[in-house]
Amino acid sequence: MPTLTEFDTIAAISTPIGEGGISIVRLSGEDAVKIANKLFKGKDLSKVDSHTINYGHIVNPETKQVIDEVMVSVLLAPKTFTKEDMVEINCHGGIVVTNKILQLLLKNGARMAEAGEFTKRAFVNGRIDLTQAESVMDIVRAKTDKARQVAMNQLEGGLLVKIRAMRQEILDTLANVEVNIDYPEYDADQVTAKQMQETSKSVIAKINRLLKTASEGKIMRNGLATAIVGRPNVGKSSLLNYLTQDDKAIVTDVAGTTRDTLEEYVSIKGVPLKLIDTAGIHHTEDKVEKIGVERSKKAIEQADLVLLLLNASEELTPEDEKLIEYTKNKKRIVVLNKSDLGLKLKKADLAAKTDAEIVVTSILKEENLDDLEEAIRKLFFSGIHNSNDEVLVTNQRQAGLLEKAKTQLTDVIEAVDNDVPVDIAQIDFTGAWDTLGEITGDSAPDELITQLFSQFCLGK
Ligand code: GDP
Ligand code: ZN
Repeated sequence: MPTLTEFDTIAAISTPIGEGGISIVRLSGEDAVKIANKLFKGKDLSKVDSHTINYGHIVNPETKQVIDEVMVSVLLAPKTFTKEDMVEINCHGGIVVTNKILQLLLKNGARMAEAGEFTKRAFVNGRIDLTQAESVMDIVRAKTDKARQVAMNQLEGGLLVKIRAMRQEILDTLANVEVNIDYPEYDADQVTAKQMQETSKSVIAKINRLLKTASEGKIMRNGLATAIVGRPNVGKSSLLNYLTQDDKAIVTDVAGTTRDTLEEYVSIKGVPLKLIDTAGIHHTEDKVEKIGVERSKKAIEQADLVLLLLNASEELTPEDEKLIEYTKNKKRIVVLNKSDLGLKLKKADLAAKTDAEIVVTSILKEENLDDLEEAIRKLFFSGIHNSNDEVLVTNQRQAGLLEKAKTQLTDVIEAVDNDVPVDIAQIDFTGAWDTLGEITGDSAPDELITQLFSQFCLGK
């Protein structure tokens, strides 16, 4: 990776390869317009207004061969994503044509962008902070509308505002401490120590509130891991098929995994579910029954939520009892299915065995499935917030740094309780200020930044 101060003109394909009809090749840097102009046949791009879209053709300057019909956006600094001059070439040829255009740009003075380099420039040029940069990545990867919404919020700086306010609180107190250390004759050690302690307590309370959102943030990012379990023939596949109907299913081939572990995501009333072991559900029919139970045991272990299917038209079997037992420590919803065949098993029979929400359905006749969806929504949103302007801690890096700042502030509180000299207690206090700054990138070291941005997708 180049150093942060190297600002040559970079280029990359910024749309997922092979998806959608239009691809965008992006340029950013001083020579963006000059380089694009060498390939563009149409208006003189150096003469057009900023933020205009220009129709024309990309032509190989050596062979004069026409490569593609394109629309070219010219976006001049500073009102651009990177705060640099940018050019976006919208082409509609497939992957071969798009690559060809990129190659021509590289031949004519651009450098291939590193992964995440556009976003990194936006950060380095002060356009966005680290939490916002991370949300750019989240938006790209978002699996549900809700997740996208949370990421958009972050992009608008929700977390940034909260973190900066906490840092300001610490800074204000530090200013007082400095004054008091400089004037020891003004015997105010105790006052300043108390101030540090109080600020520490106040900031810890705020950190705790943010940390509480972290598990919710994780679910937003990854989906609520959901296992559908029940004995053979109870309706698992039918439920899976219902849940993954086209309009709901987002089937994702998660990067770095093979086709075998294809994960299925569905959005149920705004709740992102990641369905566990759907391959198992699809294929267990022809397997020995025992394998089915063992397999569901594994799925249950990984699950945040269990949908336990029972046959409403039959008595409970020992296998059902086992599954009720296995899932007792999980968030679960009991589905009494096949209600259309009569109700041998009733809600009341189960009430003694579980306090889980029970819904009675006929998946075959698509009856009461809305009750099931509603139960999922209620279970998910009870105990967690559901406000659109919610600030969420959405990644491990942010949560880890919040934990660290909390520890440092806890140490300050203890130090003051133990009459440790103010200037010693101040070390952790200042440390917490630094740690919080790392979250937003206000005090992040260069290597960290480089490492972070290299995780971005290419072209972002
Ligand atoms: P699995 O073995 O648990 O995956 O069960 P399936 O989903 O494969 O369903 C087994 C059989 O039960 C299929 O013939 C389904 O059509 C049928 N079935 C599923 N749900 C219902 C229901 O609510 N009522 C009735 N009558 N049949 C159902
Ligand atoms: Zn099945």
